[in-house]
Amino acid sequence: MNKTSNRSTLTNITFLVKTAFKYSKKLFVFFGIYTILTSIAPFIGILAPKFLIDELTNGKRTNVLIGILLIFFISSVITKFFIAYLNGAIDPLMIVVRFKFIDALEEKAMTMDFKYTENPKTLNDYNSAFLSVNNNSDGIEGVFHKFFEIGGSIVSFIGYICIVATLNPLILLYLLFNVIFIYSLTLKAKKYEHDVKDEKSDNNRRLNYIYSTMSDFAYGKDLRIYSLSNLLSQKYKIFSSKIVNISKKIELKYFKVSLLDAVLTIFSDAIVYGYLIYGVINKRISIGDFTMYFATVASFSTLMKSIMDNIAHIRAQNLYINDFRDFLEIEDEASPVNPIPIPYDTTFEIEFKNVTFKYPNSDKYVYKNLNLKINKGQRLAIVGINGAGKTTFVKLLTRLYEPTEGEILLNGININSFDRAEYYRLFSVVFQDIKLFAFTVAENIAISTTNIDRNKVSESITKAGMSEKINSLEKGIDTSVLKILDSAGVEFSGGQNQRLALARALYKDGSIVVMDEPTAALDPIAEQNIYNSFDDLCHGKTSIYISHRLASTRFCDAIAFFEDGKLQEYGTHEELLKLNKKYADMFNVQAQYYEDESSKEVI
Ligand code: ADP
Repeated sequence: MNKTSNRSTLTNITFLVKTAFKYSKKLFVFFGIYTILTSIAPFIGILAPKFLIDELTNGKRTNVLIGILLIFFISSVITKFFIAYLNGAIDPLMIVVRFKFIDALEEKAMTMDFKYTENPKTLNDYNSAFLSVNNNSDGIEGVFHKFFEIGGSIVSFIGYICIVATLNPLILLYLLFNVIFIYSLTLKAKKYEHDVKDEKSDNNRRLNYIYSTMSDFAYGKDLRIYSLSNLLSQKYKIFSSKIVNISKKIELKYFKVSLLDAVLTIFSDAIVYGYLIYGVINKRISIGDFTMYFATVASFSTLMKSIMDNIAHIRAQNLYINDFRDFLEIEDEASPVNPIPIPYDTTFEIEFKNVTFKYPNSDKYVYKNLNLKINKGQRLAIVGINGAGKTTFVKLLTRLYEPTEGEILLNGININSFDRAEYYRLFSVVFQDIKLFAFTVAENIAISTTNIDRNKVSESITKAGMSEKINSLEKGIDTSVLKILDSAGVEFSGGQNQRLALARALYKDGSIVVMDEPTAALDPIAEQNIYNSFDDLCHGKTSIYISHRLASTRFCDAIAFFEDGKLQEYGTHEELLKLNKKYADMFNVQAQYYEDESSKEVI
């Protein structure tokens, strides 16, 4: 995270309560009733025996005894029943609230500025933030559980203080001191746990990677042929033993605190109970009082410890809540206050004007003063070797990154003036690293579960040259992709994935078309089909076609040849050949290679 904030526990609790209140008002109504009941409950158990014993040792009136028993019985049944009922009702509500917090986190992860997602530190920050919502007992839900428990406990505890104070104020002070001492040690142990958290989550991330690699079928061939399982098992042992060692150290801290706590408790019990027995022998307190004080003192330390534990737990969780809030507050580039509406029904001209750009964590400039105009309806090819800056061009155009200097204009308007989500709607992009989801083919293409235009899905599949394959599947476009969520799912080849990605772009029917190396995983015939589909995809739309294979771009209206982030040459294929400079050189080298390849095929 850019900053590590230090919000106080109180600030964070206020934030959590306010946010949770928006998510579920019912939770707070239940909580109010729960607090009242849990604060009354302990006194029933403490006072009823006192009154019973006092009556048994003095008046022995049957009606009074029955009355006490009845009051005790009825009140304890009612409170116990409702406490149990509320416990059962509050837990699911709490889970609902936690899921809403997860939603907020995931929403941020999906919508934050793209630049953060390419920074490995963000993944660490996300993992830290996720620790605050990934279980019921720690993090945000943990804070709520403890926070709700504390309400009733504090009210009961004030009652206990009053009772113990009538016995002897010094005993009260002694008991308070003991618990505060243990509390401060517990807090130290919790702080240690948080301090080593980064190291633990780092190793967890590594371990997760190993896990997922072990079970990633895409590695299946290499795993077997190169005996990768040995390497992975070794790595697995290293990372898992690191995690175990950290956990051991943490547990040792807690163990020491519990040991000291046990010793102190034995001492304090001996002192207090000795004092009570002495009081009865000297007739300073009645036997009824003895039972009342005995029960109060016995529960006093337990209750105070539980309050302190709960406070310590909440304070320790505060560090996680800070991580969570830091992640949500990662600053995105400001959106325009009054965004200019985008006229989707027109064709677009794109202009890079004096664009200078370097990646946020890099000193190397990808572009310096890049100027390039793509006319309305033009089909522009961007070519160049790997690392020339082709993909970066797309990232800037699609606003995944902002230029360091200069501006990008869409029909003469700076693209920053448009609403970001609206702007994304303009583009049908086929990225180089195709990602299909473990959903159905139709969902993968329409990027929706509802409102799928099934005819359009089939049409897009046909245009992308995948109809034969999809029609051969029993469930057609309802077949699941990958086996992660559906064991009957289908694994497609690299080329087929690329075609499905193309179908997705066709389905979206964006006003600007971008294809980033869409033929990398295809054979020459499939490649030719893609060019034909490109025609389908474009028909009159402004489009950009990126490739490092120069032969594949001849069908474009113009070619921009990039080298080292510079636009070196610009023109039609014929013009650039005539120019007889770098493009022509590279084309001839590649042509020779392809000729060689094809002559081999003929032989
Ligand atoms: P091409 O698409 O032509 O292969 P790119 O646009 O991907 O090239 O990369 C241009 C330059 O920017 C390269 O030097 C590459 O190493 C660098 N680069 C690409 N992505 C990042 C990133 N996320 N952070 C830092 N540098 C990057």
